[in-house]
Amino acid sequence: MKIVVLKFGGTSVGSIERIRKAAKIIISYVKKKYKVIVLSSAMSTVTNDLVKKSKKISKNFPHAEYDVLVSAGEQMSCPLIAGELIEKGFKSRSWMSWQVPILTEGKHKFSRISHIYKKEILKYLKSGGIPIVAGFQGINSKNRITTIGRGGTDASAIMFAKFFNSEKCIIYTDVDGVYTTDPNKLKSAKKLKVISYEEMLEMTSLGAKVMQPHSVQDARLNRVDIEVKSSFVNKSGTLITKKKNIINNSSNKIITGISSTQNDAKVTLVGVKDRPGIAASIFKPLSQNSINVDMVVQNISANGIETDLTFTIKLDDLNKTKKIINENKNINFKKLLFDKDVSKVSIIGVGMITTPGVTYRMFQSLANYKINIQVISTSEIKISVLINKKNVKKAIKALHSEFNLDK
Ligand code: ADP
Ligand code: ASP
Ligand code: MG
Repeated sequence: MKIVVLKFGGTSVGSIERIRKAAKIIISYVKKKYKVIVLSSAMSTVTNDLVKKSKKISKNFPHAEYDVLVSAGEQMSCPLIAGELIEKGFKSRSWMSWQVPILTEGKHKFSRISHIYKKEILKYLKSGGIPIVAGFQGINSKNRITTIGRGGTDASAIMFAKFFNSEKCIIYTDVDGVYTTDPNKLKSAKKLKVISYEEMLEMTSLGAKVMQPHSVQDARLNRVDIEVKSSFVNKSGTLITKKKNIINNSSNKIITGISSTQNDAKVTLVGVKDRPGIAASIFKPLSQNSINVDMVVQNISANGIETDLTFTIKLDDLNKTKKIINENKNINFKKLLFDKDVSKVSIIGVGMITTPGVTYRMFQSLANYKINIQVISTSEIKISVLINKKNVKKAIKALHSEFNLDK
């Protein structure tokens, strides 16, 4: 059986008109003799509205109920797609996660798909039906509804492609591929024909919203090739695949892409009493409360007694972090400072492994635009800097041109 998995994101099913367009795309694959499995997101804005409603009830809305609530959006979009296909004379039906069922593991809000029962869907495909499956949701071993993180329908699609061993997994979205940087933020961004899982993982983890980071990890682990395409225009998209498949890296660019974040906060502890184990004492209670610490700098103490420690966290965790640090009896410091006006800008590319001087070029080009770097972090294939939010656009533009991505 020649199976294709098609995923439609929020804007691609955002109106009845868009749903009709999505149905046309689905039908085009049926006509090419594919058995089509569709994974759909909620219509755009629906999930956000549900999240807002939960926040109005409580800042600590119970996570299990949150999952039931926010997964409701997909229950609306899937039957609309199925209905449109039936209207056009095709056999189709919607499937919620518990009907498949799609099993997940892990905590509510951030579960991961561990198994998909194939039997019923296979039977349905064989009978000529087009299953329209709700993305983003699953059920856990206690039969409770779970969700797999915002933007999770990408991961649902990839796991369906894995379990059904599909020939293709196509992510239909509102841009026609993965670009060197967000094309809605920089006009000169260029579409990439192909990108490796590793680079894509860095791009998305560092802020490129086009795919959910976990989904790219799932694709890499399971060797699922992904095509990112537009549901608006019929154009070739971007292939995300393993490095080995990228033989013709004709561009020979050192940097593949640039990402930026919008939801970071910087925390500085001034005048911390320096002693072995101090960093651990600060970070242990944060990790126990599931607060992810990202970039860290600790200055060498000038007097050997006190030091300053700076780190970044997600903006959403700021209040919790303040509370935890202020209540931490194991540390001594003079002042606690916070900055919400920061953004992390990162350059990503396997080319930097073999090319010296990339760090210098990045820093110099930001300096040329008088952009101050607050914190730096690096890995083998990325360099990130924390800067003031107001300079993000300028920084991306400068770096895009410095590393010849405009061409
Ligand atoms: P969907 O609803 O289809 O899942 P998303 O809004 O999650 O779509 O992702 C698509 C958006 O990702 C685009 O509209 C674009 O603004 C943004 N984006 C950020 N970085 C990139 C990039 N490097 N390439 C393409 N799109 C990007
Ligand atoms: N509807 C969910 C969200 O908005 C899942 C998705 O769109 O992939 O996060
Ligand atoms: Mg998305």
